[in-house]
Amino acid sequence: VSEPGKSRRRKFWGWGWQDEGADAAQLSALEAGVKALLEIGDLKPLAAPEPEQIVLRAPRVTAPATLATKLSIDHYERLAHCYGKSYRDVVRALRRDFANPPDLVAFPESAADIAAIFDFCADANLAVIPYGGGSSVCGGVEPEIGESYAGSVSLDLGRMQRVLEIDPISRAARIQAGTFGPALEEQLRPHGLSLRHFPQSFEFSTLGGWIATRSGGHFATLYTHIDELVEALTVVTPRGVIETRRLPGDGAGPSAERLFIGSEGALGVIVEAWMRVFGRPTYRASASARYASFADGARALRAIAQSGLHPSNCRLLDPMEAMLNGAGGGDHAVLLIGFESDDHPLDAWLGRALELCRDHGGEVPETSIRSHADQQGARDGAAGAWRSAFLRAPYLRDALVARGIFVETFETACTWNRFAELHGAVTLAATRAARDSGAGKCVVTCRVTHAYADGAAPYFTVICRARDGDELTQWTQIKSAVTLAMLEAGGTVTHHHAVGRDLRPYYERQRPDGFALALSAAKAALDPAGILNPGVLLAPRARVSTPC
Ligand SMILES: Cc1cc2nc3c(=O)[nH]c(=O)nc-3n(C[C@H](O)[C@H](O)[C@H](O)COP(=O)(O)OP(=O)(O)OC[C@H]3O[C@@H](n4cnc5c(N)ncnc54)[C@H](O)[C@@H]3O)c2cc1C
Repeated sequence: VSEPGKSRRRKFWGWGWQDEGADAAQLSALEAGVKALLEIGDLKPLAAPEPEQIVLRAPRVTAPATLATKLSIDHYERLAHCYGKSYRDVVRALRRDFANPPDLVAFPESAADIAAIFDFCADANLAVIPYGGGSSVCGGVEPEIGESYAGSVSLDLGRMQRVLEIDPISRAARIQAGTFGPALEEQLRPHGLSLRHFPQSFEFSTLGGWIATRSGGHFATLYTHIDELVEALTVVTPRGVIETRRLPGDGAGPSAERLFIGSEGALGVIVEAWMRVFGRPTYRASASARYASFADGARALRAIAQSGLHPSNCRLLDPMEAMLNGAGGGDHAVLLIGFESDDHPLDAWLGRALELCRDHGGEVPETSIRSHADQQGARDGAAGAWRSAFLRAPYLRDALVARGIFVETFETACTWNRFAELHGAVTLAATRAARDSGAGKCVVTCRVTHAYADGAAPYFTVICRARDGDELTQWTQIKSAVTLAMLEAGGTVTHHHAVGRDLRPYYERQRPDGFALALSAAKAALDPAGILNPGVLLAPRARVSTPC
């Protein structure tokens, strides 16, 4: 969990670099803001844990000599591979609860290393948990594997961070799965190319993690899911290496890539991928529109999503969400619109989108309209304010959690015909669940992160007082109520955060039974010993009784 070639380390208990976070002025503004928002008194922050304060269970296995340079029992590495970055993870880390660390942390450098680690783990009955950036927010990287394993190995792809090959004719690049967002873009930039995939976790997540979780980038329409960008994959499974063919489109049966996109480390380890890349945008145009209500803004959003204009940004913020992110005053909803291209000016596209905004009752301040032909353009105004708040948010989230505040996000997607009903039902379920948990005043906000011609992806944030010392039960109550409301209203349990261990019981309700059988059969075929990430997507292997 160190920056390659440098001594800078990521926090083992929360978001970002060890030496980065909110400064004193930001913290004091944050405290004042949340006290006013939730109408609460003094906050007593928990101090961040230090590695030496935590005693870890001794490793239950010993690395074989042949793998000694690839397997580590380093205290810091084991700590840093205990959890992902969800609310629940940060609470447990702040409470110094590291009861279930991986026994070993593996750092393979090649497909052959991974195959050797699989052999060792199958022989020793160890679970293998693929680990990219560890930014999972659904229990995807936690060694919560049930009782039928002798131990666990967290398999960190951090030594596989290179762009290996570029095909400029087809505009594609072959990239190792452990490559983090910034390193990936840095290596593509000299070629004038970009993957154009920017999840909020971009800085601390990897290509392999994105593919394994079907991540969503921050572009609101068109090529925003990693699924659309994968041309071919190489995956190491306990049954051997699977390499799919590079094709721009393909009708030969079910897609082999798609079996592994979203497989969350349960079917194999993605080691590299041919990815479709794009020219770096030089033209940008943006604006924002104000609406009296979220529902009015949603009608405009649908019109734009169905117009074929495909803006890169088209994000609707409810009044509270806009206020908390510095994009509005709290009395109106805000629709942020942006276009970008490496090929042509965008004034005509923006002009038509703004006509649609106005047709649906939107007010477009003239000062919000921007058009640039350079890399920086259109990054100021409401869109710029929102963007910098977006990137700062994870650090502030951790600071709030340390101050006893419950902050959790819930994301889903549904078709337009159910959108208004789902929005109402989820807001109500979240508000009730927070109130029933004894949290006092609670704030539920919503933004729409992605818009499709046939539907949209609303993203809810719930903020209230955490139940001191009982945060995890409170979390379970609220998570369960909200996720069930999303399912009942016709939504998905997750639009882009993946299933992991946390959402598996709800995913089981969404997934057709026949598909569950097919997935289990694929798992049994590729991972016969059941060592790969037990508990994500599918229930972990039952305890194996040993004959006397
Ligand atoms: C603050 C914050 C913001 C976020 N914003 C977004 C967002 O905008 N969009 C979004 O989609 N998600 C977002 N997420 C969730 C998370 O960043 C994504 O799920 C991301 O794709 C995970 O990538 P990672 O490299 O960190 O994977 P990890 O967290 O390390 O792993 C995620 C899952 O993939 C598996 N895995 C990882 N690498 C591989 C591999 N090479 N082969 C096979 N399996 C593998 C793991 O076993 C695990 O099940 C956010 C998370 C946080 C904390």
